[in-house]
Amino acid sequence: MSKTAESVWNNCLSFIEDNITSQAYKTWFEPIKAVKLSDNALSIQVPSKFFYEWLEEHYVKLLKVALTKEIGTTAKLVYVIKMENTYGNKQPFTERIPSSNRSNTQASQEVDVPLKNKSPELKNPFVIPGIRNVKIESQLNPNYNFDNFLEGESNRLARSAGLAVANKPGGTSFNPLLIFGGVGLGKTHLGHAIGVEIKDKYPEKTVLYISAEKFTQQYIESVKKNNRNDFIHFYQIIDVLIVDDIQLLSGKAGTQDVFFHIFNHLHQNGKQVILTSDKAPVDMIDIEQRLLSRFKWGLSAELNHPDYDTRVAIIKNKLYRDGVEMPEDIVEFLANNIKTNIRELEGAIISLIAHSSFNKREITIELAKKIVDNYVKHTKREVSIDYIQKVVSDYFQMDVDTLQSKTRKRHIVQARQLAMFFAKKFTKASLASIGSQIGQRDHATVLHACKTVDNLSTTDKQFRKYVEDLNKKLTL
Ligand code: ADP
Ligand code: MG
Repeated sequence: MSKTAESVWNNCLSFIEDNITSQAYKTWFEPIKAVKLSDNALSIQVPSKFFYEWLEEHYVKLLKVALTKEIGTTAKLVYVIKMENTYGNKQPFTERIPSSNRSNTQASQEVDVPLKNKSPELKNPFVIPGIRNVKIESQLNPNYNFDNFLEGESNRLARSAGLAVANKPGGTSFNPLLIFGGVGLGKTHLGHAIGVEIKDKYPEKTVLYISAEKFTQQYIESVKKNNRNDFIHFYQIIDVLIVDDIQLLSGKAGTQDVFFHIFNHLHQNGKQVILTSDKAPVDMIDIEQRLLSRFKWGLSAELNHPDYDTRVAIIKNKLYRDGVEMPEDIVEFLANNIKTNIRELEGAIISLIAHSSFNKREITIELAKKIVDNYVKHTKREVSIDYIQKVVSDYFQMDVDTLQSKTRKRHIVQARQLAMFFAKKFTKASLASIGSQIGQRDHATVLHACKTVDNLSTTDKQFRKYVEDLNKKLTL
């Protein structure tokens, strides 16, 4: 029976498969192709230099045993590294690596001459930390943990889902776990907390926290340096990947594409993915549909504005950790006046403490008021329905009479609906009263207008722009 490269390699594979985890097998052995068998040397093609280094580092002994079983003690293994489009050279280049009778490190050092164009730039920033000391720095901030992420109605679902994921990464149906919510509501904190907890429970797991922005930069860099494959492989060996602010991938087709592949690989291999975003999946724009649909595979959990009790608890916790005492009425004042952003709440506390200690002054309500004014830029001033109609008609370059008229012309109807929507949003007037002030309509018309605006602003980009622009004008 004659041996072929394929038959030899297949036998090796069955042996290897029995000896390592199925994940490792899938990651590191399935992509390999046997390309040639001559005398006692088997050539295998691997997707990148990184791949080869990884195999050498982790599986050289296993490969040696498998190969010796198949072709005897004189067996040699030759890696062919597929390097497409590298430095204008389309030809694959080869490195001959005798893997028998040598220790692991020697084998790497005594790499037999490559054919041509071996560039020193092949080494790349993703590879080096992963290869030589195997540990990948998690980039986690230990100060963001579950202990100091206070629970409240506003974050209960996200927090418990995060804990569930931390207890069993990859083993819950929350994969991916997508945490979304407005600025300063704790997305980054919670993302880190999950990673920190996993590292604590499962120190052997490779966890990586990365902002989508940094991910994008790395990707662009890898394209420039022609090591996109290495970039991908680097991410594919991670057990728990936390990507912060994925809305920033919007409009970046290349990065989305590469992330899609990494995501699929991790997901298929039971690895955990945690994502944060400042928008719900339905509101993300310029993100490819196939990626969006994956974001929805697991659980999307929202971080809402914290309620009063949670705000008080967060303030007290922060004061306690900083060893500062503050009168109860000031705590209440802060909690009452900074409602929508925990970062601002913390900022106000810090600057209050700083002011009082630099100026050796007691923390008083007056001081608190001054500081809060700096933080809450636009303490809401009541806007009138008249004013709203004026702003909306100016924006669409029509006069208020036109806005109120009975016409069914689309752009006028839309302007009227927007005016009703903002009247509802910014005033305390009832639906009926809004209707009577905006062209003598009834309350059902106003209700319908509010719903229409809600719907259109999630489905229609242009319309959302109107809403955002007007919102800005009305809150200035
Ligand atoms: P985001 O990423 O959503 O903009 P961050 O995670 O950066 O928000 O949170 C802003 C600040 O508020 C951080 O200092 C964070 O520690 C704090 N914070 C957010 N949520 C909580 C919470 N539930 N308990 C305690 N601190 C919180
Ligand atoms: Mg953040």
